[in-house]
Amino acid sequence: MRLDVVSLAPEAFAPLLELGVIGRAFAAGIAQLHLHNPRDYTTDKYRKVDDVPYGGGAGMVLKPEPVFAAVEAIPQLPRRRVLLMSPQGQPLRQEDLIRWSRDWQQLVFICGHYEGFDERIRSLADEEVSIGDFVLTGGELPAATIINGVMRLLPGTLGCSGSLEEESHASPLLEHPHYTRPANFRDMEVPELLRSGDHGAIARWRFDQQLLRTRQRRADLYARWLEQQPQDEDIALDPHPGEDG
Ligand code: SAM
Repeated sequence: MRLDVVSLAPEAFAPLLELGVIGRAFAAGIAQLHLHNPRDYTTDKYRKVDDVPYGGGAGMVLKPEPVFAAVEAIPQLPRRRVLLMSPQGQPLRQEDLIRWSRDWQQLVFICGHYEGFDERIRSLADEEVSIGDFVLTGGELPAATIINGVMRLLPGTLGCSGSLEEESHASPLLEHPHYTRPANFRDMEVPELLRSGDHGAIARWRFDQQLLRTRQRRADLYARWLEQQPQDEDIALDPHPGEDG
């Protein structure tokens, strides 16, 4: 996959290339990261990328010309998606990461800065994405977040792809708890059942835990999961999943 980032702070992406599983995936050629600084596409002596807002008001606004020039200079693959980082965008979900990793061969990220970007920059994007209902100083962390999430879904990045299907947000249900050795740590005991070797019972326990966890922590996801269940499923009608042991 080809990843292009348009950013005034391209150095913010160095850790992605250097660290851990994602760094190794880049080194293995699973994806290629190309960084483009709008400042390199300015034509004035001061390499100016921002300006005051028409109509007045606080803060500076990212100018359209250098961002358009930077995006237009990027080589274009046939299946390309342009994502604009914005707290006004659609909230990021795991299903978006799945969709982008599966359907596109090139993702272009436009990172805003300052008070925001000139409204016309929006016309460059296929999608506007927010990583949450809060405001950061720039689009670099949001873009790096998405790149991390997409990269780990690409074949070859993770050793065990089975874990991708079971984890939180692969379905509306959150993942069940995990334990490893020792069986007792500071009087906190690993559930006996997990040590029983009864794989059927373990699978049922894990599913019950998923229901319980989701209902307790994320009522919105639990309601979504219930909606997806066939009407005659007993489990969908259980008001207290997983609480009877
Ligand atoms: N004034 C803008 C507003 O109210 O929508 C916020 C501008 S923010 C300080 C600067 C840039 O950071 C944005 O243009 C965007 O690229 C990025 N950004 C900040 N928070 C974000 C979020 N939650 N999700 C995605 N991008 C974000």
